[in-house]
Amino acid sequence: MIIGVLALQGDFDAHRRRLKQLGAEVVLVKKPEQLDQIDGLVIPGGESGTFLKLLGEAGFEKLKQFVHSKPTFGTCAGAILLASEVENPKQSGLGALDIRIRRNAYGRQVDSSIREGRFIEGTPNGSPIEMVFIRAPKIERIGPEVEVIATEGNDPVAVRQGRAMAATFHPELSEDPRVHQAFLDLVGKGTKR
Ligand code: GLN
Repeated sequence: MIIGVLALQGDFDAHRRRLKQLGAEVVLVKKPEQLDQIDGLVIPGGESGTFLKLLGEAGFEKLKQFVHSKPTFGTCAGAILLASEVENPKQSGLGALDIRIRRNAYGRQVDSSIREGRFIEGTPNGSPIEMVFIRAPKIERIGPEVEVIATEGNDPVAVRQGRAMAATFHPELSEDPRVHQAFLDLVGKGTKR
C-alpha cells in the first residue's frame, strides 16, 4: 500500500511522518504522473487558491480523475479542494465530496486555535480528540451521501463520502493518530476490493 502526499506546497511533511509512523509506505507527489503509482493520496493544508494555480488545468483534471477513483484525504486547504462547492471566494472544487465549504470561516480573531472536538468513527457517541484549526474553512452543507466522522461544537469538521475523506482541521499536528488511521483503513478496504 503506497500513500502519496501532494507536495506542491503546505505542510506535507507532517503528514508523511505520521503515515510512516503508522506503517505506510509514503511518497511525496510532485508530478501528475506519480498519481498512477499510488493507492491513496493525502492533500495537505496550505492555501487552496495557490494549489489551484500550481496544479494548472492539466494537473487539476488529472487530480480530479484520481480523487474520483482512489481514496483521498484532504485536510484544511485539501478539504476545500475536494469539495463540490467553495465559497469566500468561489473557486473550483474537485467534487469528490458533496459539500459546500466556506474558506477562512472563523474570521481574523480566531485565525488559529486548538479545540477539543469529538471523533465519531468507531464509537457510537464519539470520543474527545484534539483539533488544530489554522485559518480553517467551515462545512456549511453536507449532501445526503456524506457521513460525518468528527464534530466540533455543532459543526461537522471531518466527513467521508465513498473513497474521499476530509477534515477542516490538521490531525497531522496533533499526537493522536486516529484520523490518519481511519484513512489508511479506507485505503486498505479499497485495495482489497
Ligand atoms: N485558508 C486556507 C485556504 O483557504 C486554508 C488554510 C489551511 O490549509 N490551514 O485555502
